[in-house]
Amino acid sequence: MTLAMMYFLPFSLPPPSPTVTASQVPSLFREPYILSGCRPVQQDWRCYLLSLFQKHNESLNVWTHLLAGPVLLLRWWANVDTLGCTLDDVTSLPLLLFLVSSLTYLYLSAAAHLLQSHSERAHYFFFLDYVGVPAWRERVGVIFLPGAAFFGWLSCTGCCYAKFRYRRPYPPQRKVCQLIPTGLAYVLDISPVAHRLLTVSWSQEPSLPFHALQIACFLLSALFFSCSIPEPFFPGNCDFVGQGHQIFHVLLSLCTLSQLRLLYLRFRPFFVPLHRLYVEHFEAAAAPFVSIM
Ligand SMILES: [Zn+2]
Repeated sequence: MTLAMMYFLPFSLPPPSPTVTASQVPSLFREPYILSGCRPVQQDWRCYLLSLFQKHNESLNVWTHLLAGPVLLLRWWANVDTLGCTLDDVTSLPLLLFLVSSLTYLYLSAAAHLLQSHSERAHYFFFLDYVGVPAWRERVGVIFLPGAAFFGWLSCTGCCYAKFRYRRPYPPQRKVCQLIPTGLAYVLDISPVAHRLLTVSWSQEPSLPFHALQIACFLLSALFFSCSIPEPFFPGNCDFVGQGHQIFHVLLSLCTLSQLRLLYLRFRPFFVPLHRLYVEHFEAAAAPFVSIM
């Protein structure tokens, strides 16, 4: 924590303890090749909240998803404004679902990284943010594709099972449990898009480059998540900046922003006719009540 921050803190708020080396925290909180910058366990909860402004080995994991939220919100608002949507209009529901599910996974993740160091119980509780990832991925699938919903559930179950089943040092089976169901879900979801990318000229559809971008971001994020590179090549040098998990967060945020752009591009041609239908039906349904009043 900076000296300036400590100066402005009310006396009742306990400042977070200085960070310690990996050997001074339980093995659950040690990451391979990260040697320092760990927050001690069993501090007051408020210390972990205030550690938002402290330099530690989870700082960038928190801030990458915390800052992605306002960026996403601003981009979302600009798109909604361009379309002329209002929040009380059900035709804006796909955009709203996207925003809510994306913010859910971003902020569950930020909370997990900020607070999980409190204790072993907190670590397992807060990493239920695995629920947020399928919520983000399957926001459309739950409604339209039972298969995608099933794989979304399976990826959540696989991640939770791996978290509870395996202890450090983690065996390769842990990544298998996390990545195989998530990979299957992604392949199912992305298969129609991949088909279009291969069969339709990219100049015909302005959305295709964004599809390619979001696929590239997702696959790269899966690589950095599963391999935790580059820290094995620079032990102790990625304790604060440059961890594979931080790169995974940035790529996942870029993937979400590309998906927002895609949703806008794909939704735009349908919005005006959908909105007209909604107004006609809503007004017809509401007319008797309006005349009584
Ligand atoms: Zn994370």
